[in-house]
Amino acid sequence: MKKLFVLSMDAMVWEDVAYLREKPNFSRLMEHMSGVSHVRTIYPSITYPAHVSIMTGCRTGKHGVFTNGTFGTEGGSTRWHYVGDIVKTEDIFAAAKRAGLTTASVFWPVTGRNKNIDYLIDEYFFPDPNETPEQGFANMGSSEEALRAVRENMDRWPSNYKNRGKFLDKTNTFDDFLMGCACSMIRLYQPDVLFVHNCILDTFRHRHGIFNEQIDRGLDMTDEWLGEVMSAMEEAGVYDDTDFVILSDHGQMDFARRIKLNLILRQGGFIDVDESGKVTDWRAFAQSNGMSATIWTKDGAKQQVYEYLCRLRDQGVWGFEEVLTREEVSREYGFDGDFDLVVETDGYTAFGDGWQEPIANPIDLSDYRLGMATHGYRPEKGPQPVFLCKGPSVEDDVMIGRGEIIDEAPTLAATFGGTMPDAEGRVIGEILKQK
Ligand SMILES: [Zn+2]
Repeated sequence: MKKLFVLSMDAMVWEDVAYLREKPNFSRLMEHMSGVSHVRTIYPSITYPAHVSIMTGCRTGKHGVFTNGTFGTEGGSTRWHYVGDIVKTEDIFAAAKRAGLTTASVFWPVTGRNKNIDYLIDEYFFPDPNETPEQGFANMGSSEEALRAVRENMDRWPSNYKNRGKFLDKTNTFDDFLMGCACSMIRLYQPDVLFVHNCILDTFRHRHGIFNEQIDRGLDMTDEWLGEVMSAMEEAGVYDDTDFVILSDHGQMDFARRIKLNLILRQGGFIDVDESGKVTDWRAFAQSNGMSATIWTKDGAKQQVYEYLCRLRDQGVWGFEEVLTREEVSREYGFDGDFDLVVETDGYTAFGDGWQEPIANPIDLSDYRLGMATHGYRPEKGPQPVFLCKGPSVEDDVMIGRGEIIDEAPTLAATFGGTMPDAEGRVIGEILKQK
């Protein structure tokens, strides 16, 4: 019986493959691989919307998830979209269930309580410090079987996740834990379809920049985890029958400064703040996507805000080179939601959500989206994400130069004979063996 294993290495780009080819596990696994070397992701090029696109084959306007978290004007950290019920279109797990297959996923974004995933460990960051791992994952939809995989890997739980300091390694991120959970699921249940999401490369890139020796460390870890997964598949007797896919959601670009768009809006008279600095009312408010931002307006202020931002854009010093309307991004990218405007970076600037002086902050690591490098910009920019495939359904050595991220779900479904009727993308038939 054929299996499908999909590993999303968040923020992996084609330039990483040259390094990985020298590594023992990747080189063995991906010898004669096929796929797409430069995948165009969605706009905005951010993790949660892109992962929903990977699993649905749709862009944000259709699948409904166009931000990483909920919109709010109170500041502080984003409330991540954990629960899958905000996804408006069918996903690949539904297609797999229709095809009579068993399904699993580990830390795939926006899958909490997804009824079509038999063995589910949601990507969940434990906002309540008193919640135990088992309680948190159970509340996000893990069955008793999935919790067994959690329990088997508690020695890899990142106990100091909340206070992890400057240096990252396998002991203080979720990635080592979740790779262990994926291997446990393979050994215990041999799910027909298993999706896994690992963030280590994204985290390193945010902290250290797009290409450097820290990234090589992340790629070394990646290769070790690949070896672990391959061993688990061999132990479970499914290695030769598995279509193995390594893909990613976006690249990153280095940036030089960060600017607070909400302070710009406040200076334009669109945000009211009391003496304590709290927002009391607003007519325009921005939510950062890293190197772009979505802007909501109300009280009929849209046109006025648009003209204000266009004037600043023309001055050329405020960090954004484009002000786009919802209609424009919807037409060009299928990027849609209940926002009104989008601003796009000048290529050197990332955006923060704050509305307090000073307007530009030195680069620091206090905001997860903003370190040395980030993403969120138009999807054509920067190093591009990958889609690498190897296995019984896949042709040898057919590497296509360019493709679309929305083609991935229908292509992955085709490996198990499934279909994705809601998808906006196409099956990349060139890389698949004819039945
Ligand atoms: Zn990402």
